[in-house]
Amino acid sequence: MTRAFNFCAGPAALPTTVLERAQQEMADWHGKGLSIMEMSHRSKEFVSVAEKAEQDLRDLMQIPGNYKVLFMQGGASSQFAMIPMNLLRGKSKADYINTGQWSKKAIAEAKRYCDVNIAATAEGSGFCSAPAQNELNLSADAAYVHYCPNETIGGVKFDYIPETGDVPLVADFSSSILSEEVDVSKFGMIYAGAQKNIGPAGLCVVIIREDLLGEAIDGTPTMFSYKVAADNASMYNTPPSYSWYLAGLVFEWLKEQGGVAAMAEINQRKAKKLYDYIDGSGFYANPVAKNNRSIMNVPFTLKDDALDKTFLAESEAAGLLNLAGHRSVGGMRASIYNAVPEAGVDALIEFMAEFAEKNS
Ligand code: PMP
Repeated sequence: MTRAFNFCAGPAALPTTVLERAQQEMADWHGKGLSIMEMSHRSKEFVSVAEKAEQDLRDLMQIPGNYKVLFMQGGASSQFAMIPMNLLRGKSKADYINTGQWSKKAIAEAKRYCDVNIAATAEGSGFCSAPAQNELNLSADAAYVHYCPNETIGGVKFDYIPETGDVPLVADFSSSILSEEVDVSKFGMIYAGAQKNIGPAGLCVVIIREDLLGEAIDGTPTMFSYKVAADNASMYNTPPSYSWYLAGLVFEWLKEQGGVAAMAEINQRKAKKLYDYIDGSGFYANPVAKNNRSIMNVPFTLKDDALDKTFLAESEAAGLLNLAGHRSVGGMRASIYNAVPEAGVDALIEFMAEFAEKNS
């Protein structure tokens, strides 16, 4: 088996050992004579897999007891609508911080349900920074404040958690969950599509404070109610059971690596190496303010964009996959999630240096 280094933004790299274990257990899970995919989601076997995954996530993120963990469907994009539906709780306004493309999508969806106050926008910096706390124009009557701590496309990361007083803070952690330690108690709700740092697509993890449940607006579809999901242990209907199982294997793997703190140390080191190389190269560039650089998604441009196609073809031939930037911005992007090993970043830097030398 040859495994390339995969820098895809999502669906993204998964740990090889997780894939190997899934392969071993595929046709006959724990001697039961069937695969996880073929099992009733109500069987004691699957329920034990589901509960263990939740407990491992709780341990990894030190999720307080007054938070529910939901395993939902419809990707992070469905949350853009479910958030106003469930969290307006009789109010008519929500605050949103705009730091790029995923913020904008969340804002567009929220506008279908409420008045959106843009508490701050990074548009002035070309979405190359995140607004500081003292630039946030928060409303006292907002139902919640929404932001995206790590913009996957722009590679922009908040270097602080916004202080919102009594107004619940809601965060789209799709591309940075489990990459660094986070104090969950500072949030009303955290959500993340699974296909980056959690597991395969098809699952979206929601971590929500219990007191925010139960006041969904009239007409909220049953499947979109956090309370229904919570009351039914995320099994009101048939959940994406195989994705849930694989997420559980990834959580076990993270624990074996030493947990989130140990992962964060590696992630910081991987990101620093790559940014240091880019900054010193004179050939590549990253436009993001230094204190807001993502440690998960590293966009970069080449000195001459006429070389982009060659760079992508040669990197792919060298076993470095999916380095094209998002289709909306072009350039390059290396997503270096938890499952991308440090050796992958080393190989990328080596390739970039050779490419720069050849083409300077
Ligand atoms: N938010 C962020 C920060 C993302 O990176 C993405 C996907 N790249 C989404 C939301 C949308 O996720 P999904 O495709 O699961 O709906």
